[in-house]
Amino acid sequence: MQRARQLQGLQGGTWDLIIIGGGASGLGLALDGASRGYKTLLLEARDFTQGTSSRSTKLLHGGVRYLAQGDFGLVYEALHERGTLIENAPHLCAWQGFVIPCSHLGHALFYGLGLKIYALMAGKLQAHGSDIVFRPEGLLPGVRPKKCQYAVRYYDGQFDDARLGITLALSAHAHGANLLNYMEVDRLLFDLDQKICGVGAQDRLGQQSFELRAPCVINATGVFTQRINQMDPSTAQNAITPSQGIHLVLDSKFLPSKHALMIPKTPDGRVLFAIPWHGKLLVGTTDTPLQEVRYDPLPLEEEIDFLLDTLGRYLEQPPTRQDVRSVFVGLRPLMASSHTRATKKLSRSHKIYIAPSGLVHLNGGKWTTYRRMAQETLDLCAQQGLLPPKTCQTKSLKLHGYTTDAPDSHLRVYGAQAQDILDLERADPTLARKIHPAHPYSYAQVFWALEHEVAFSLEDVLSRRIRLLLLDARAAYDCAMPVGQFMGTYLGWSAQKTTQEIASFQSLARAYILE
Ligand SMILES: Cc1cc2nc3c(=O)[nH]c(=O)nc-3n(C[C@H](O)[C@H](O)[C@H](O)COP(=O)(O)OP(=O)(O)OC[C@H]3O[C@@H](n4cnc5c(N)ncnc54)[C@H](O)[C@@H]3O)c2cc1C
Repeated sequence: MQRARQLQGLQGGTWDLIIIGGGASGLGLALDGASRGYKTLLLEARDFTQGTSSRSTKLLHGGVRYLAQGDFGLVYEALHERGTLIENAPHLCAWQGFVIPCSHLGHALFYGLGLKIYALMAGKLQAHGSDIVFRPEGLLPGVRPKKCQYAVRYYDGQFDDARLGITLALSAHAHGANLLNYMEVDRLLFDLDQKICGVGAQDRLGQQSFELRAPCVINATGVFTQRINQMDPSTAQNAITPSQGIHLVLDSKFLPSKHALMIPKTPDGRVLFAIPWHGKLLVGTTDTPLQEVRYDPLPLEEEIDFLLDTLGRYLEQPPTRQDVRSVFVGLRPLMASSHTRATKKLSRSHKIYIAPSGLVHLNGGKWTTYRRMAQETLDLCAQQGLLPPKTCQTKSLKLHGYTTDAPDSHLRVYGAQAQDILDLERADPTLARKIHPAHPYSYAQVFWALEHEVAFSLEDVLSRRIRLLLLDARAAYDCAMPVGQFMGTYLGWSAQKTTQEIASFQSLARAYILE
């Protein structure tokens, strides 16, 4: 996908559907819309998935916690979507074993029964069952034996969120959608009856502005929705309550197991995961109500202490701040409620709301259910006459790069395109060089991100196309200089722009490093 071509497509283009926001919700809508045959345009103010959708816990799950809360509908739907996604994008999504350590038999029986129900609810789309392990020695090396007298093992899905995002963009593009990152919607257009008929947008890379028209406009701006809400005087019911969740990334030596650890009840009544991810251990998360919404939220000291303390109680070698390779933060767009202030009790379900102006809002939900959310939204738009009725195609639609034969390496996320990257490395020794000696990522991947994946900044490349910033923030900081220079040459940056870009990325990376 080339941004210049996408930009050209805006000139004189007509659309059935305009989507504001390129996170999980917006990208899911774009693929659904384009594959139904609607002329679809998606506008993203920054980079695809730069908001919440690159900062999740990376689980495709029904949510064991939501089962305990009695939210059976959400769990059932999410479990089915989990299976569908693993079938449609096996290069990005996979089954992951989880182990709940139990110090009492009663707990093991309790969780064992709950997880049997969880597995049964997934029906045919559950690849593995759950079991109670009475002698769990060796199942979770690194966990204190006293904490793990018994264990319950179950399976959920795991994925790479930002890579799934760019894959959805490429899939939608292949079905004819026009998608632009760095294109910010700054006003809404209304006809004489005050019905929405399009958007005004500003190109953040080229400074040009556009007026783009469609009978159906969907706001999928997640936690940033307030600004779009304010552009439409008729939008009244789309309030969200933001909540922050942080993750710590550690070396895998702290839990040298192929299984993830799941702690079902932390001192604040949440669940905590420590999950193998791209060769590291991803630990999360917290749920802290927030007032202010920003693109680069910062972790609170108490959140860091909480994760380290809670995990440390289970591990033989408790991690310290110095062991943290990266800390990253995401903001949940939870649906506001007048009944509770506790964000952990707010629904993780999504909400579709059509304002009197006809502006459609899709908000809340989970990555796991993005496909289903898109289907429901476009079906509703068709019912309301905003779009001509057409049948959803995404249930069995294979995503870009689909293959069941992807290499078992860091190139797996490219699926069928992994071979193209290997070919680049073979053909050009400059591209075969690693960007950092401690990590497998190569300049061929940087080149690929610039050439085929509409990456424009160091952050796009080192945080979302390659996940180094989240896996090892110091390494990302260290390679900003050479990668920035490589990008500057490719993108034709001036020396001043290259220096600025490197400094700006390094300043961002500092926030991911715990001193
Ligand atoms: C800590 C945490 C952990 C999570 N873990 C999981 C998990 O393990 N599994 C799971 O299924 N779900 C998980 N979730 C939920 C999931 O990540 C979110 O539901 C999902 O990413 C939200 O996507 P979105 O598209 O609605 O919002 P976003 O990803 O925030 O996307 C909104 C986009 O709109 C863009 N935008 C804003 N204003 C404008 C404008 N004016 N013009 C154009 N574009 C604009 C933004 O730049 C942004 O990219 C987690 C969430 C958090 C916070």
